[in-house]
Amino acid sequence: MSANIIDGKEFALKVRTRVAEQVTILKADHGLTPGLAVVLAGDDPASHVYVRNKNKSTLAAGMKSEEIRLADTVSQEEVLAVVERLNADPSIHGILVQLPLPSQVDETAVIDAIDPAKDVDGFHVVNTGRQAVGLDAMVPCTPLGCIMMLKDQLGDLSGLNAVVVGRSNIVGKPMASLLLGENCTVTISHSRTKDLPAVCRSADILVAAVGRSEMIKGDWVKPGATVIDVGINRIELDTGKTRLVGDVCFSEAVEVAGAITPVPGGVGPMTIACLLANTVTAACRIAGVSEPEIG
Ligand code: NAD
Repeated sequence: MSANIIDGKEFALKVRTRVAEQVTILKADHGLTPGLAVVLAGDDPASHVYVRNKNKSTLAAGMKSEEIRLADTVSQEEVLAVVERLNADPSIHGILVQLPLPSQVDETAVIDAIDPAKDVDGFHVVNTGRQAVGLDAMVPCTPLGCIMMLKDQLGDLSGLNAVVVGRSNIVGKPMASLLLGENCTVTISHSRTKDLPAVCRSADILVAAVGRSEMIKGDWVKPGATVIDVGINRIELDTGKTRLVGDVCFSEAVEVAGAITPVPGGVGPMTIACLLANTVTAACRIAGVSEPEIG
């Protein structure tokens, strides 16, 4: 058996097209242009690529995009002052502070300073708490994209056994919480889990968010399971070139799973699409306009 390959690129394009349509309607009917501000401090090359892509996608969706670049030597007070200015700017509905921040800046303090209504990354504890108790919240983009793909693939997730490998605040924990919200029976596993292969084999839905190249082998996957690979790992090949791989050994798992996301081209493209969708959601909530269904 060979699994259905879940095409995250194609799905993300659908979401971005739907977002652009909603932006056109919001402009025409309510004079509302959703605005996203991205704050980038320091010289991390990967962060620069992410921010450039976010800016391009935001503009392509017809939204306002503001990029604030700060030096590697920026002080915590300066970052907080930028966040305060953006909190007060009525043309900005989403604020994303690109992580990691330079070491002299306290990331938690910066995230805490973002107005929760504009926290399109969904990392503020107010949003984490609201999501956990089932209230309207801004939901972290990567887990949101995973849930969209799972619902598209499987329909109702109710009663399925879901195993999330990884318990980070930005992927593992919110992913588990969203799956619980969909009435899955959820197991969170991590570096201290005993007999991880057996735990993984119990999963109808297996979400890998570990950051270890191809750690999850084909025989850890229950036949027919849906596998979502969040991991992005760059490995060096014998030729000296590099290649991106996930946390799941794709060549093995594809023979066992019912459906699987590839790396690249799976979860990654959905993350930016969900950021745009979250910005539209935030703009609607702030303006008191009814929210579109995106996804
Ligand atoms: P993290 O380092 O914060 O957390 C990793 C988690 O994996 C930890 O909770 C740890 O307990 C667990 N873990 C580590 N070793 C393990 C082991 N041997 N067995 C079981 N669990 C183990 O990482 P993160 O920020 O959650 O990111 C995870 C991966 O997802 C990374 O590869 C990252 O690049 C990728 N990622 C992708 C996207 C995307 O848009 N596709 C977004 C965010 C993160």
